[in-house]
Amino acid sequence: MQKYRQTPLIPSAAIQARIRDLAHEIDAEYSGDDSFAVVGLMNGSLFFMADLLQAMKTQPPFECWRVTSYHGTATTTSGTVQGVSSCHGTFEGKRVLVVDDVLDSGLTLHAVKNELLKRGAKQVKICVLLRKKIRRQVQVKAHWIGFDIGKEFVVGYGLDYDGHFRQYRDIFALHPGDDGVPTLESSTTNSQNKKLKTSDTRRGNTGNKRKKLC
Ligand code: 5GP
Ligand code: MG
Repeated sequence: MQKYRQTPLIPSAAIQARIRDLAHEIDAEYSGDDSFAVVGLMNGSLFFMADLLQAMKTQPPFECWRVTSYHGTATTTSGTVQGVSSCHGTFEGKRVLVVDDVLDSGLTLHAVKNELLKRGAKQVKICVLLRKKIRRQVQVKAHWIGFDIGKEFVVGYGLDYDGHFRQYRDIFALHPGDDGVPTLESSTTNSQNKKLKTSDTRRGNTGNKRKKLC
């Protein structure tokens, strides 16, 4: 089995507490508004969107849009956002809240926002679990933010690295190796090692894990 070097960043309890606050603020904004609709960006915001919707008193209709800009073992955006135009839903006259996991380059949310406006949405606001402070390629305003983080590559609570780690309840940063390049280590053979392209990490509390991979 592979061993992954990782640093706990945001424990589950902190995530859930922050979601309760966000839900409260979002309820206050959209309460009684029949034009309110939610679009969640999959797969990364799967758990965040589910927990947020369940914490909210308002019960908007929602769609899940599958969009991608990261491929396989990449830890930076490919620069192109795929899948936006083939997503479902009519949003004519709607006030749409887009829920996503990470605001990084901004390309994904910029493309999604434009698509919703093209489909007739009268307003688009954005709620992200994590906002990376740097690396923005296009300016996008997130109206609700769970946590600001650095430029580390993060996994857990829906976020993956090449399909791994999504089921963790906590959020982790993957570690840089000694040479400054984060390494995904294998305990079986060196040939299975893979290099990542992220940078610094932070320390936090581990909290409870839903599943332990390593
Ligand atoms: P952007 O288009 O803003 O560069 O990136 C948005 C998407 O990239 C996010 O919705 C998320 O799916 C992915 N992403 C950005 N940073 C990270 C990260 O640190 N970890 C993971 N797993 N995905 C990320
Ligand atoms: Mg995403």
